[in-house]
Amino acid sequence: MADNSNFNKKHSLGQNFLTSDRIPTRIADECGADKESGVIEIGPGLGILTKQLSRVAAKVVAIEIDSELIPILAERFNEVTNVSFINADVLKCNLKEIIKDNFYGMKVHVCANLPYYITTPIIMMLLEGDYGFDTITVMVQKEVADRLCSKCGDKNYGAVTASVNYYASVKKLFNVSAANFSPKPKVDSAVIRLDVYKDKPIKPDNEDVFFKVLKGAFENRRKTLVNSLLSVFGTDISKEEITEIVSLTGNPLVRGEALDLNQLCFISNEINKKIYKLEEPR
Ligand code: SAM
Repeated sequence: MADNSNFNKKHSLGQNFLTSDRIPTRIADECGADKESGVIEIGPGLGILTKQLSRVAAKVVAIEIDSELIPILAERFNEVTNVSFINADVLKCNLKEIIKDNFYGMKVHVCANLPYYITTPIIMMLLEGDYGFDTITVMVQKEVADRLCSKCGDKNYGAVTASVNYYASVKKLFNVSAANFSPKPKVDSAVIRLDVYKDKPIKPDNEDVFFKVLKGAFENRRKTLVNSLLSVFGTDISKEEITEIVSLTGNPLVRGEALDLNQLCFISNEINKKIYKLEEPR
C-alpha cells in the first residue's frame, strides 16, 4: 500500500508513515493476534499497518485523530469487511465502550506505530485503564524502547520503566531504521511488545502508596531513598520511621534506583502500614 495519496503529512501529529509492507507485515505477525481475536490500532495513517492487521486478526478497529485521513482510509478499505475506523483522539475516547461494542468475548490486542510526541502517555493510559488487553505491540523511538526494556540498576531504568514492568512483561521485537519512514525522522525506532499480566506478580497492599514510592524513588537520583520518600510522605510519617523502613533493605543510605519492584513494593507496604496505623497480625 504505497503512499500515493498526495496527503500532506502533519509533523504536529507525528505523521511519519511507514513506506513498505515489510515492517508492518512483521509487526502484524508478531503482535499475538489471530483469527479469533480483535485489534485496536492507534493512528492508522494511510492504512499500511491496518492492512496487515486485517490479514491476521478477526476484526480491527483503528482510531485516527486526523479527520482528513478518514475519507482516504474509508475509500482504501471499502472492500475490507473486518476493518472500521473511528475519528478520535485515543487519549480522549471511551476505550471500554469501543471494546464492548466491537470485541465482546474476544481477546483484544493493541498495535500501533505510535506518534512519537505522546508515546508514554498512550502506553500508560493503555496499562492503567485496566482494559484487559492481551498484548500491546508498539513502535516507538529506539531510545524509549531501550529505556522500557532496561533492567533495575541500568542507567536508563526509571519510574516509567518500573511502572510499565508492574503491568506487563516487556520485550523488544526488532529495531527499525529511520530510512523506513516518510518523512524520515531524525532517530531510529524499535518495536516492543508488552504482554499484559492477567495476574500481576507484584501485589502492593495499596497501589496509590506504591506509585508514590516509585515516583519518589526515581524523581531525584542524587537523593537517598530516605530523603526522596521524606519529600513524598513527610506529612504522614516521620524521618525516623522512614529510615527504619528503608533500613529493612539492609542499607539505610540506598538510592531508589538500586531497588527492584519487589523491594519497592515491600517498602510501600511498610509505609502503608505506618500511614494507616495498621497492626501486624499476631
Ligand atoms: N500507522 C501509520 C504508519 O505506520 O504508517 C501511521 C503512523 S504515524 C507514526 C502516527 C499516526 O497517529 C498518524 O496517523 C497520526 O495522525 C495519528 N495520531 C496522532 N495523535 C493521535 C491521537 N492522539 N489519537 C489517535 N491518533 C493519533
